[in-house]
Amino acid sequence: MPDRAALEIALERLEDFGSPVEELEQYRTPGDVAAHVLWDAYLRGDVSDRVVVDLGCGTGVLAYGSLLLGAAGAVCLDIDWKALEVARENLGKFRGMFDLIAGDVGRSPLRPLGGDCVVIMNPPFGVKRRGADAVFLREALKLCPRVYSIHKYAPRSLDVLTRIAGECGYSATVISMATMSLRQRLRHHRRRVYRFEVLLIRFAKNQV
Ligand code: SAH
Repeated sequence: MPDRAALEIALERLEDFGSPVEELEQYRTPGDVAAHVLWDAYLRGDVSDRVVVDLGCGTGVLAYGSLLLGAAGAVCLDIDWKALEVARENLGKFRGMFDLIAGDVGRSPLRPLGGDCVVIMNPPFGVKRRGADAVFLREALKLCPRVYSIHKYAPRSLDVLTRIAGECGYSATVISMATMSLRQRLRHHRRRVYRFEVLLIRFAKNQV
């Protein structure tokens, strides 16, 4: 079992998107932010022996970290088969423990997996396609009783996410706010390093 620093390093070493697709908001979650959300989920007992669902898995960073921390398996969905190719490479050492599914989260082929599953995801931020993050969240809340998700911070974003959670019978708790530093990858970025705040949020199904 890696400690947090070792996890961060392992995640940083993974293969990145070859040629990221701007429209799909393909940014790999930096190791420090990914390790933060994964360790939080782990310490709450939401990783060990769970099936982790990674929606918009990209290169599979969050699935990989979950498997390192003792998840029983991972289900990874992404719309871009090229990203899934990278994920397959990254996850190779966990052969037999993960499924890669090509599909649109808005028309997801996944069905609820029951009490032992948890979604851990970093969806598109909904900047290129407004509302993309909400589509991911609604889908995640259909699948598993616990959801960990990373969202770009804006003054009203938490209200919107909390409202969606409430409509779906979930409560939302902010784990932390973090700064995401992305090296300039996409054409429209002029600054060399692009920094912005993200919210790490845990959603839990309300007891009935
Ligand atoms: N979760 C990964 C990648 C984040 S980038 C990480 O943490 O590193 C967002 C990912 O969502 C990209 O891989 C993109 O291809 C995927 N994506 C965007 N729109 C999608 C959709 N409608 N359905 C499924 N995946 C989608």
